[in-house]
Amino acid sequence: MTSWPTDAPSQLWQRLSVERFSSKPLNADRRADVVVIGGGISGLTTALELKRRGRDVVLLEAATVGAGASGRANGQVIAALTRHGPETIRHQLGAKFLTLLTGAADRLFDLIDTYGIECDARRTGWLQPAHSHGRAQRGRVMAEQWAALNVPAHALSRGEMAQRIGSDAYFGGWEHKGGGHINPYAFTVGLARAAQEQGVAVHEHSPAVSLTRHGDIWLVKTPGGTVQTPRVALTTAAYTGNLWPGLRQTIVPVTSYQSATAPLGSFGENVLPGNEAFSDTRQDLRYMRKDRDGRIVSGGALAVQYLASLRLPRIIKRKLTAFHPGFANTTMTEFWGGRIAMTVDRLPHLHRTKDGLASWIGCNGRGLALACVMAEVLADAVCDVPDAQLALTPTPLSPVPLHPIVSPTARMILPYLRWQDSREV
Ligand SMILES: Cc1cc2nc3c(=O)[nH]c(=O)nc-3n(C[C@H](O)[C@H](O)[C@H](O)COP(=O)(O)OP(=O)(O)OC[C@H]3O[C@@H](n4cnc5c(N)ncnc54)[C@H](O)[C@@H]3O)c2cc1C
Repeated sequence: MTSWPTDAPSQLWQRLSVERFSSKPLNADRRADVVVIGGGISGLTTALELKRRGRDVVLLEAATVGAGASGRANGQVIAALTRHGPETIRHQLGAKFLTLLTGAADRLFDLIDTYGIECDARRTGWLQPAHSHGRAQRGRVMAEQWAALNVPAHALSRGEMAQRIGSDAYFGGWEHKGGGHINPYAFTVGLARAAQEQGVAVHEHSPAVSLTRHGDIWLVKTPGGTVQTPRVALTTAAYTGNLWPGLRQTIVPVTSYQSATAPLGSFGENVLPGNEAFSDTRQDLRYMRKDRDGRIVSGGALAVQYLASLRLPRIIKRKLTAFHPGFANTTMTEFWGGRIAMTVDRLPHLHRTKDGLASWIGCNGRGLALACVMAEVLADAVCDVPDAQLALTPTPLSPVPLHPIVSPTARMILPYLRWQDSREV
């Protein structure tokens, strides 16, 4: 059974992308300073970082660049974690990591500028509307904590939020002006182009099928060839298989579906008139952003995945119509899905062995900007930088309790989360 993506990727993001990339499979036996496994944003930014440090890098992608979550995401650039605010992040992961995270959106947009990546990037801000009074209060605290770190964040009143999103369905919230949105597929493909231009050997259709240790060397095998290397960075995220025994068991891969409207009619000018991205405070998250042609791209998860391609667009349309009645006459024209690596504590984790193998995992649905800064941490980890100097302290592989049962059934908790969301005041 393959662990990499075999279902249809986002045709919308591919259609809208002017960035193109293709590369040949590995078909030889060779050596490298570092092998990066996985051709998403994590793998590509890590490869670029390692190349910048003068390493000879081979990147192996099982399918095509962007075939994983990176090419399927909603595209919101969010320099914050899903559940935890700055104080908790500092407490749990340390001040160095918090500083790194505050620069995550800057890093992503810098990469776009540095490599001239055409991905419809809009740095128009990211909004978190609050779905209850209590959440609006917490949002104010969140904004204050971020602002104290010199992040361009501030609270929004109920009226201000209504103006910004074009709906009075929320109780206020907060804004991170450094965020925005991108075409995530185009960004990923642009990174691959840049990596190749910088001298990274990128091989698509080259799944790493085994990873074995021989003396002080790792042997990475693909169907067409092998690479001998002292160091391996594994960036396979929610598509992680069994290359590193135990890694897959540290996460629960959750499928998130996406759907987009046809370009909106005139009422669309009132929805997100400032073109920000937004994700609300529900556990069963509601979120949306406009694409470059004025479609609304939104999404969600399903407890029961049966007939997802028929049901999900209808569910999203219903939610959008509750947000603004103008959506009642809109057609949902796109559907796709992808896998997100969730951790029990909703925090990203860095893992490494003593012999040159390292990985970070656990984006918890907010990985686009995070991956761009975790590249530096992963490059440090794979290059033997001591634990004390890493921006994120490595943790041992700790399996999710009852993983064989929890992993395939985690989505069944959704109705309970919705019920909790509806009870919040
Ligand atoms: C539907 C959806 C919406 C999302 N929306 C947002 C958003 O709006 N904002 C945000 O910040 N985050 C979002 N995310 C999360 C974000 O997309 C991810 O955190 C990020 O793209 C992860 O990048 P990655 O490189 O770590 O993993 P991926 O992009 O998943 O890349 C992993 C790659 O590893 C490859 N692979 C697996 N096994 C092997 C092997 N054995 N050999 C070689 N290659 C292998 C896979 O083919 C895949 O290409 C979303 C995710 C999904 C699924």
